[in-house]
Amino acid sequence: MSSVVTEAQGLKVVDAFDLDDELRSILKPGEMVRDSQGRRHRLPRYFYEIPSHEAAMSTRLTPHFAINEFTLNDLKEAARLQQYPRYVPCAIRILAFYLEQFRAACGASVHVAVNGGYRSPSHKLSHNATPHMWGTAADVYRIGSNILKTKEAIDKYNELAEDLSEDVNVLPYGHVTGRDADDHVHIDLGYITLVPREISEDRMEQPQENRPRFAFEERRRKDRRTLAPDEQEE
Ligand SMILES: [Zn+2]
Repeated sequence: MSSVVTEAQGLKVVDAFDLDDELRSILKPGEMVRDSQGRRHRLPRYFYEIPSHEAAMSTRLTPHFAINEFTLNDLKEAARLQQYPRYVPCAIRILAFYLEQFRAACGASVHVAVNGGYRSPSHKLSHNATPHMWGTAADVYRIGSNILKTKEAIDKYNELAEDLSEDVNVLPYGHVTGRDADDHVHIDLGYITLVPREISEDRMEQPQENRPRFAFEERRRKDRRTLAPDEQEE
């Protein structure tokens, strides 16, 4: 990849309650959905706004994962979400962090499938709640040159993923969609929602006319290095 390297810091953060009616009906911020066990989970509310394909390709969440790798969808995704600007839950950067660790553990590149990253609640594969709808799951179909189709390969990489952290969940090898996986490694972190620190949570969960509210994530890491010690965050 030769594109410009930028960072997640600098991406616009939106409160999905401030988006237009169509986008709110697709993204369903704050709504409760049931998982396959009947447990209820609240959908994310804060999203990164990706202005263009170029931005999606060039915005790196970690050294090896650009944001576009989590937003590759085919026609199963709502049409509006296939146009720019596009939206992805802010927790995506936590997923990228774990995939970066996973990549290091594998010692090879990690490739997320089409429809294998963020899937909106309106995606045709979104029947029950899955962490894909939170931006905290990835379906990996290839590692290095190894296409993951066999039980041996999937078991091996599932084990490497689980060894990373108690936070990581995988699906066992098998043929039942949503319950196990026979052509990818599914890695998820559960139903994590991320509230960017630039956001103030004092708002009711309803759109406010005339007052769209956006924030930009502040540049933090580089700035912190130049701060005096008593100004540093703990
Ligand atoms: Zn999955």
